[in-house]
Amino acid sequence: MALKLFNTLTRSVQEFTPLNPQSKKVGMYCCGPTVYDFAHIGNWRTFVFADLVRRTLEFSGYTVQHVMNITDVEDKIIKRVRENKTTLREFTGQFETAFLDDLKALGCREPHQKPRATEHIPEIIALIEKLVARGVAYKAADGSVYFSIDKYRGCGCTYGQLLKLNLDEMRTGERVASDEYEKESIADFALWKARVPDDGDVFWPSPFGEGRPGWHIECSAMSIKALGETFDLHLGGEDLKFPHHEDEIAQSKGATGRPFVKHWLHGSHLLVEGKKMSKSLGNYFTLRDLMAKGSTGREVRYLLLTAHYRETFNFTLDGLAGAKSALGRIDECVSKLREASGAPGTAPASSSSEFTAPAKFLADFSAALSDDLNISAAWASVFEWVHETNKRLASSSLSIADAADALAAWDKVDSVLGVGAKADAEVPAEILALAEERTAAKKAKDFKRSDAIRDELKAKGWIIEDTPKGIKLKKI
Ligand code: AMP
Ligand code: ZN
Repeated sequence: MALKLFNTLTRSVQEFTPLNPQSKKVGMYCCGPTVYDFAHIGNWRTFVFADLVRRTLEFSGYTVQHVMNITDVEDKIIKRVRENKTTLREFTGQFETAFLDDLKALGCREPHQKPRATEHIPEIIALIEKLVARGVAYKAADGSVYFSIDKYRGCGCTYGQLLKLNLDEMRTGERVASDEYEKESIADFALWKARVPDDGDVFWPSPFGEGRPGWHIECSAMSIKALGETFDLHLGGEDLKFPHHEDEIAQSKGATGRPFVKHWLHGSHLLVEGKKMSKSLGNYFTLRDLMAKGSTGREVRYLLLTAHYRETFNFTLDGLAGAKSALGRIDECVSKLREASGAPGTAPASSSSEFTAPAKFLADFSAALSDDLNISAAWASVFEWVHETNKRLASSSLSIADAADALAAWDKVDSVLGVGAKADAEVPAEILALAEERTAAKKAKDFKRSDAIRDELKAKGWIIEDTPKGIKLKKI
């Protein structure tokens, strides 16, 4: 089934096809973290969403080249470096490491490339030089280089592709130096910021004078370097549509003369009591905050994946408790299936033809994802499968092969959801040895010894059960 996704560029749900539909390869760029602090779970909603998109593409047979930059120089970072009297690399390094640890804890596949802005200064300068040479960027009296929106539009290019911008009210000639600004201030934005005393040691030489790059040009330079002048897919949170992504489009098209990105995807915000979770409002939790309260990365991942990416989602601690119990239902079912599929001493039976749950499960799940990542329908298919499988397990009507098929279906589905299933408790060698000794004692009709071993196992925290398929060890 064709994968359909909303494209912010066309403001419609459309079939996703890469630039070269024959190659089955997708270049995907997701704006990465600004490493000035720990990421909050609002940020994580966007990165988990990017991971879902990547996994869905891979599930659909594409080979994805996933690039996520690390913004390690911009206004907020420089301010904190100054306040903390430290160096740029030392300061950003700690938050980059924490970010990558959290990425793992949340079960996200690691991006194939994680370019740092500070390691792409030559590429950034070269891109700015191209913009100056093409007449769409200029050096201002303050020594900084700005992108000229008028000149860009004068070349027949559209500024305002992702959002409808009221360009008639545009204050022509106005300039904005800071990396973040509001829609009301559509203005020429900084590509290269001339060195000022507040920058401390954070500056690089350039043909325009000493200074540092603006945030927007960093992403244009890194994405073009990693994926080419035109690539398939670009993602980020909805707040990045303007100005960040609009400016990325303008810089890239302005420099190369070619379209920048075929398909734009934006994730909606995570809210707290109706307001965007953000550092500035102070209404945020980091993953570490939630883990300190006893939650796990997979519970947070599950919760972040319960809402459709184009809908805002209110975060609550109750929601997190719900995630834990939902995952518990999946874990229990998968654990029983593992037992049923791996019971020793029984010849594998063939699948019973009337057990259609795995095939239906995969078909429903895949149809839900293809429908613009309809995650509610995808989870509904998971819990319908859990219900059906539990019924079969309870009536002992699953053969070993049925159970193995069901597990294989779950593994496929989980290759997208990435919540895994808790591994069954490993049985220590000492316990296994005792269990074997008990089996031997029973065989020799030494029931006194076999009962004593049963008690010993119990004292060590294990229950042994005799089933028609052999013994079963359960942790108390
Ligand atoms: P930053 O580290 O500030 O550059 O943000 C990293 C990503 O998190 C960007 O894609 C933002 O759009 C996204 N983001 C920030 N706040 C939220 C939020 N409350 N909900 C979802 N995504 C967010
Ligand atoms: Zn970006």
